[in-house]
Amino acid sequence: AGEILTRYPDKKVVITDRTEELCAQFFRPKTRTYAKKWLEERGAEVVLGDPIDGKFPDLKIDEKGCTLRSGRRLTGDIVYKCMGFRPCTEWVKDSLPPGCMDKGGYLKVNDHLQLDVCGKTVFAMGDCMIHSSNEVKLGHTAEVNAHLVAENVRRMAKRKPLLPYPKGVVGASKTPRIYALSLGKYDGSLGFNSLVVNGSMAAFFKWMVEWTKILACREVLVGIAFWQFSDITANFLGRTLVRTTSVDDDKDE
Ligand SMILES: Cc1cc2nc3c(=O)[nH]c(=O)nc-3n(C[C@H](O)[C@H](O)[C@H](O)COP(=O)(O)OP(=O)(O)OC[C@H]3O[C@@H](n4cnc5c(N)ncnc54)[C@H](O)[C@@H]3O)c2cc1C
Repeated sequence: AGEILTRYPDKKVVITDRTEELCAQFFRPKTRTYAKKWLEERGAEVVLGDPIDGKFPDLKIDEKGCTLRSGRRLTGDIVYKCMGFRPCTEWVKDSLPPGCMDKGGYLKVNDHLQLDVCGKTVFAMGDCMIHSSNEVKLGHTAEVNAHLVAENVRRMAKRKPLLPYPKGVVGASKTPRIYALSLGKYDGSLGFNSLVVNGSMAAFFKWMVEWTKILACREVLVGIAFWQFSDITANFLGRTLVRTTSVDDDKDE
């Protein structure tokens, strides 16, 4: 929505969610308030607390709009369904023994991020798996998963004990909650555990994340060094100065 309203300020955007607050499951209250105000100042209508009618996955939503439980009909030229759907794991289903997947299609992993089958030689990470930490599915958490899996594959080859998730990679029982919500090209909200920075600084950070991440993927030294330093610093800060807490602790904020 941020990108649409920045590029096409005359467009009318309507956002609806069954919760009473925007992105209540993950973002800090300061981010939620800032994002809602930003959207409304640009003419967006934010309709909260009135769920889309029907039962998931058969909700009353189509390419022309959706009908809310209150009976209200929201219409639009384009409808984006951003509710989260099943992970793409159908293709692997028949090659694994029964019980590897939950009913949502997520691969169930143990604390080493292995499937408890096939001699434990199959690992799963990122959006396709479910782990007891129940972390939000993000690019950042997918990467933290991948760091642990890579290390555990190495350890397996050397017959060393495997590391548990997430402690084996972040040194704590929870992964730091890090996000950069973009509100168009020049605005946004940046969150690192309890710390929130709103405005153009967040947009700059998001741009820097993208730029350095692409350099790291191209195996350019500056990108790799930037992310090695950032990961170590983030994990250290999450254990000390800006401690990682659960989403429920936000209620007092
Ligand atoms: C609209 C949107 C915005 C997001 N914004 C953010 C954000 O700002 N910050 C953030 O941290 N995270 C964000 N996320 C979440 C983030 O993108 C995911 O959590 C992350 O990409 C998960 O990584 P992954 O490698 O597990 O899965 P993916 O990135 O989805 O990669 C899986 C890959 O597997 C491929 N694949 C699927 N099936 C097969 C098959 N049968 N054979 C071969 N290949 C296959 C897919 O094509 C895909 O390329 C966003 C997600 C969405 C949808």
